[in-house]
Amino acid sequence: MSELELLMLPEMVHIWQQTLGWQPTAQQQQLFQQLYEGILEGNQQLNLTRITEPVEFWEKHLWDSLRGVWSQESEGKCEISPTSKIIDIGTGAGFPGFPVAIAFPDTAITLLDSTRKKITFLETLITKLGLENATTLNGRAEAIAKQPQHRQAYDIALLRAVAPASICAEYSLPLLKKGGLAILYRGHWTDEETEDLKPVLEPLGAEIASVEGFTTPISNSIRHCLYLRKVSATEVKTPRPLRKVN
Ligand code: SAH
Repeated sequence: MSELELLMLPEMVHIWQQTLGWQPTAQQQQLFQQLYEGILEGNQQLNLTRITEPVEFWEKHLWDSLRGVWSQESEGKCEISPTSKIIDIGTGAGFPGFPVAIAFPDTAITLLDSTRKKITFLETLITKLGLENATTLNGRAEAIAKQPQHRQAYDIALLRAVAPASICAEYSLPLLKKGGLAILYRGHWTDEETEDLKPVLEPLGAEIASVEGFTTPISNSIRHCLYLRKVSATEVKTPRPLRKVN
């Protein structure tokens, strides 16, 4: 196999269709490919991801990012509406935010990360891909949530591999509008963890809408998504004061 072939992402049209009832257009597939190449290139300077093999990238970065926004609770209906205002908190190399921005071109997505050099990389990649619906924001979620232009301003918050679930709830709920949804991407998850999370959610004005367990389509890895619905306004004292992160 030539080097070029090795770098081609698979299309996986049937798996997209079977699992999500969706498949990328030719243009979206091209954007996924450009995203993949951009991440591989960025990886040479920045430690962005260990997942670089095409099929693994497709499953763990593309499919996994998009699976979270198709809740089975709502009968596989997508949680995102065309006009959703979305924030990806702790986006890192742009996951789940980039695949969501590509799949839903009419939404407005903010990619938030506390690391300046990752944000600089994301800005370059947004320009390269010509993604008009994605913007970046550099800062810590705790601080951003105190700014009036961001507090209670989003319909959907996405968080993957950022912090323990209780902290993810504290980061995201102040940023959501009433009725908004936080989607927490987790690996293994137990009923006990659900019970432990409930008392944390009450002062944040949120409740657990659903917890979904599933396996990824290629490697059959176990994943869970937690859907937290903001049912009332968040108390002003949250989130907690700044914590030390990396
Ligand atoms: N969501 C991505 C990256 C996970 S790594 C993925 O799933 O691949 C976690 C990222 O969260 C890092 O890039 C780190 O800089 C960022 N981060 C951690 N705490 C944060 C905070 N309080 N506010 C904003 N970003 C944070």
